[in-house]
Amino acid sequence: MCGIIGLSGHENIISDLLFGLSTLQHRGQTSCGMVTFDKLFHTHKGLGVISHVFDKDSVQKLTGDIGLGHVRYATQGSDDIINAQPFTINYPFGIAMIHNGNIINFNELRKTMYEENHILLETSNDLELILYTFSSELAKKDLKHLKVEDIFEAVTKTQKKVIGAYAAISVIANRGLLAFTDPNGIRPLALGRRQTDTGYEYGFASESSSFDYLGYELMGNLEPGEAVFVDMDNNLFRKICHQKERAFCIFEYIYFAREDSRMHNVLVAEERMKMGRLLAAKVRSAGLQPDIVIDVPSSAYFFAASLAEELGVPYRRGLAKNNHIGRSFILSTQKERETTARLKLNPIKEIVAGKKVVIVDDSIVRGTTSKHIVHLLKKAGATAVYFVSAAPPIKNPCVYGIDMAISDELIGRKSEEEIAKYLEVDALIYQSLDDLQELYKNEGFCYACFSGKYPVSNSLEYLQSVEAERKLNC
Ligand code: AMP
Repeated sequence: MCGIIGLSGHENIISDLLFGLSTLQHRGQTSCGMVTFDKLFHTHKGLGVISHVFDKDSVQKLTGDIGLGHVRYATQGSDDIINAQPFTINYPFGIAMIHNGNIINFNELRKTMYEENHILLETSNDLELILYTFSSELAKKDLKHLKVEDIFEAVTKTQKKVIGAYAAISVIANRGLLAFTDPNGIRPLALGRRQTDTGYEYGFASESSSFDYLGYELMGNLEPGEAVFVDMDNNLFRKICHQKERAFCIFEYIYFAREDSRMHNVLVAEERMKMGRLLAAKVRSAGLQPDIVIDVPSSAYFFAASLAEELGVPYRRGLAKNNHIGRSFILSTQKERETTARLKLNPIKEIVAGKKVVIVDDSIVRGTTSKHIVHLLKKAGATAVYFVSAAPPIKNPCVYGIDMAISDELIGRKSEEEIAKYLEVDALIYQSLDDLQELYKNEGFCYACFSGKYPVSNSLEYLQSVEAERKLNC
């Protein structure tokens, strides 16, 4: 998963770009980077979080009125600096690009790229593939008289060749800012605008909350397969280039997106509250009578608050979180994950002691965090722990950009009795996939991590090859 932002039209873009990017830091902490353009591209990127990678000097060098920002958490490709985005190439025109997502025909495309276009890719990052596919298609046009329609045609060809999930933003030097999504619209990308004395200026971001901070008005999310181009005079052009059935990632609502973001016209916090009400019905029908409801901070707050409200049971903050420690999930070894989970959360004894506690988390993946939390709560004196997962059992790895572990590691593949026993809980409640699908019927979501129904062809073959490779490297 990554966070992306692209802005154009300001006199000096960098402060807005830097600030906007910082609102997306939750989407990736492995590396980050920004590129701006005046007469040349100016790029700075590095490993780690924004505050480590950028200082006054590096920021001052990023001049220009158009630019891109990226935060990465690796799914495809290694954690090396060579994979940090943005990427730039000098032909045609000079193109800079960033993306969020994952390409599933990576190996085939890489091979064709070499055999047909004689381009040897330098990195293991799938962005390079999108960038070279797009630039090769653009290079076939009449570059002296390039029209917006030529850009959209190059996007269409790219979307037909590059199979997978992606939202991409690009600066085409001296031409403008371009954004596009994959045909199923799996990953989010919002379009916004801001009124200035000389008209509107436009921007794109993974989440609309970035626009709230920057004073942009949200115009909505890009549709599946849509491309949007903003030229140097801030004229906006939109086109659905290559569209298939919408399969927007449900995990954005459950976990990834900030609660103050709007995606496809709904507020994420509101969706979490709806899901919390569904969970309350399940707690009730299991005959549980908790004294308090607490959450695993911070992503589970809205599920827990609405669940508590619906049950008429007090919501309390029962776990304090050290916010200055990285996301445990992103660490690569199980031992690292366990240590970080231990250092991250501290139960507030006075709140939980002597109580039957419902604890709500957004999801259970490997079970590392949940098991640890149950242990903490019992040690702090909770008389019963009922664990509630806002996500249905995760049984299948995501191949569209969310790093979720390989199939064998997913605890959701076991029976609920086995999971409850492993977690040492007094009761385990999962969101029901049927309830979730009923809530969003006819709305076009990807539920593959729960159902195993992958919306993009050849996803299973890709998954098998990735898992075989991962096992070899273990
Ligand atoms: P686990 O400890 O493996 O069961 O992981 C569950 C925890 O990781 C939950 O607290 C989630 O908030 C968090 N989580 C779930 N999915 C992801 C993801 N793809 N990346 C980072 N964290 C995640």
